[in-house]
Amino acid sequence: MNASANSLYFRCAGGGRPGARFDLSGPRLYTAGTLLTGVGTEAIRPGGVLVRGTSIIAAGAIPALLATDHSRSAELVDLGAGATIMPGLVDSHVHLGLDGGPRPAERMQGESEAEQVVLMLRNAVSLLAAGVTTARDLGAKSFLDITVRDAVSRGDAPGPRLVVAGRPLTPKGGHCWFMGGECESPQDLREMIHQHHEMGTDLIKVMSTGGFITSGSAPWSANFSAGELAMVVKEASSLGMRVAAHAHGREGISRAVTAGVATLEHCSFTGRDGMVGSDFDPALADKIAAAEIYVCPTTNIHSLLPERAEGVARVIAELHQRGVRIIAGTDAGVDNCAHGEYQIGLEALAKAGLPASEVLAAATARAARALGVDDRTGSITPGRDADLIAVDGDPLADISALRRLILVVARGAEHVRVARSAWPGRPRVTY
Ligand SMILES: [Zn+2]
Repeated sequence: MNASANSLYFRCAGGGRPGARFDLSGPRLYTAGTLLTGVGTEAIRPGGVLVRGTSIIAAGAIPALLATDHSRSAELVDLGAGATIMPGLVDSHVHLGLDGGPRPAERMQGESEAEQVVLMLRNAVSLLAAGVTTARDLGAKSFLDITVRDAVSRGDAPGPRLVVAGRPLTPKGGHCWFMGGECESPQDLREMIHQHHEMGTDLIKVMSTGGFITSGSAPWSANFSAGELAMVVKEASSLGMRVAAHAHGREGISRAVTAGVATLEHCSFTGRDGMVGSDFDPALADKIAAAEIYVCPTTNIHSLLPERAEGVARVIAELHQRGVRIIAGTDAGVDNCAHGEYQIGLEALAKAGLPASEVLAAATARAARALGVDDRTGSITPGRDADLIAVDGDPLADISALRRLILVVARGAEHVRVARSAWPGRPRVTY
């Protein structure tokens, strides 16, 4: 989907050698015709970012950057007058252990833990190649998402920064039961949350309704009582963890909102007819907005299916108009939803009526806030991790420019840099 396929290369932070993992050579100054920092809506033209090690040390207009001491020793990487530098993308909903093919759940159930880790590392690379520098895994088996998160964090494997939920809490035989999070009683829920905390997950995922990918599970039917969901949120937050609720049907959405979850996944208002959006409730949408709960509508999976695309676009438009805070996420890994196609979801958000600036916020700074990692990523700010991308074109004018990736930097490590000769040339800008 992007030009990076031929030119992907890794500079994987020292290749795993002890003590050398994050010694990422000298400073680099990336310059382009446009810089979108993700702070405010103003574009800086032309602009640049100075990176040293894993961090951003300066960003802004070119003359000011050239005046800094670090810029004198920096490698200059000029991306051209037609290029835009912006924060790395955040995918708020992925499953690294699902392969995005026709029967991903079957494969997950049939694979050993070692095989799963291989798949998860492959999918992590696909995310990076699409410009995703932070991803939230909302359902894996055997806590393997923790293993992969930590491997990436140490610099032992390439991948986006991961925020992981472990096993989704689900009723016996419920949606994604095969990930190992079945709970039959409030006591089970409590024990499962404590186990997650001890294992080291970042958050708790709870299946507030059934889902589409598990046979015998109905997306419109609510799973846990309002009291159980409230207990899940209380218990998780006492351990410093947020809760993400998978919720398709109105009743399950309503209970999760009352319980005070941090994010609603899908939030598709699927009715008993199985149609996305057929049970939309404006008063409940207003309640979501007032409670400042983030909604991740996982537009990729829905927009790929003709029978769901129109319904999900209507729901997103309504939610947005009512002030609900939308964040971008793909559900990558589920049936026929690949990890390298993040941009499809952004185009679906734009098609649903979100202005380009809103789409970019949903894909960067706002998503980082929803995931609790905005102190490290989501904007191009000195002191934050060097997570940035560059595209050929201006995504504010044309969101499809995000398909033309020419640079991906994650925590200072370059994973994609397309040689200027490999993309349509623009006159070199002189600063
Ligand atoms: Zn999911």
